[in-house]
Amino acid sequence: MSKYWSDAIRELVPYVPGEQPKDQQFIKLNTNESPYPPSPKAVEALQGFDTDRLRLYPDPDASRLKQALADYYGVERNCVFVGNGSDEVLAHTFMAFFRQPQPLLMPEISYSFYDVYCNLYAVEPRHIPLREDFRIALEDYAQPNGGIIFANPNAPTGRAVSLQEIEQLLQRNTESLVVVDEAYVDFGAESAVALTSTYDNVLVVQTFSKSRSLAGLRIGFAIGHPDLIEGLERVKNSFNSYPLDMLAISAGVAAIEDDVYFRETRDRIVATREWTAGELAALGFRVLPSCTNFLFASHRYIEAAELMGYLRTRGLLVRHFSRPQIDNYLRISIGTDDEMRRLVETLEEHPEIVR
Ligand code: PMP
Repeated sequence: MSKYWSDAIRELVPYVPGEQPKDQQFIKLNTNESPYPPSPKAVEALQGFDTDRLRLYPDPDASRLKQALADYYGVERNCVFVGNGSDEVLAHTFMAFFRQPQPLLMPEISYSFYDVYCNLYAVEPRHIPLREDFRIALEDYAQPNGGIIFANPNAPTGRAVSLQEIEQLLQRNTESLVVVDEAYVDFGAESAVALTSTYDNVLVVQTFSKSRSLAGLRIGFAIGHPDLIEGLERVKNSFNSYPLDMLAISAGVAAIEDDVYFRETRDRIVATREWTAGELAALGFRVLPSCTNFLFASHRYIEAAELMGYLRTRGLLVRHFSRPQIDNYLRISIGTDDEMRRLVETLEEHPEIVR
């Protein structure tokens, strides 16, 4: 701590992501990255990149990427915003829309960055409990004018709400901005992008970090009414007028255009997820239904924290959250088939686990 720190900084509790070990000995099932490489077309775009161009600034509007996203999702280009990972897109969203006297409604258990941003931007959070079965009950969210944010599918639970439930939420809260964080939507939930042309009170945030295997390039985006996008652009330009570097723009365009590879890897991850869920259930885990690239599971007899430690000593990293209601659960990212077999075999070797 320095005497120059402002009071606001003293209070900050930053988000701590899952462990990123420097030695690659671990099987990493702790941060929901894709186990598969980026699209070969994205790799080609990076390898063939004319590095002489790096002395120039990138396109301040990232227009090639915005156009590629607009074409892919069937919206106009001015409905698309891009930023350095969806974390940054969310930060700009908080800055642009949620710094207001009304509290921001969010699920009690969700992506913990929302609380970090509330702290950073002095927004009052109002946490709405999940139902018994970890479901987000959108009927519990009523906000006359202000903001609502949730992840769909939710993290770390993996459960999703339907498009119809989201539409009803928008209709009941016409004076509130609803932000739907769809970081994991491609693995089995319905995207609210379909609602953005009808409703001006919904902003959908997505990422290239999961289903597009590009976490390292930091590309996130938002889709919504042009006036919302303009609000985000104002904030962005006040921080950094270049939202993405040239390499991210080039590889991002190539990744979006390679739909065949996207579907192939996504389908493989979903199939591996379903296989793993069946195996974990056979080993005595309660496994929540998942629409994501991870599973949220709790063993009937063995504490989650202990299991996480056991797996770590055997070279497998999974995530555990020391928070009420979920502290007996592990969040396990879906790896390759081989990695998930290793996970299952390692669990089978635990002295208290029987099939
Ligand atoms: N939203 C949710 C729900 C997430 O789990 C994550 C990944 N930790 C993000 C957003 C941020 O992803 P990124 O910044 O890599 O786009």
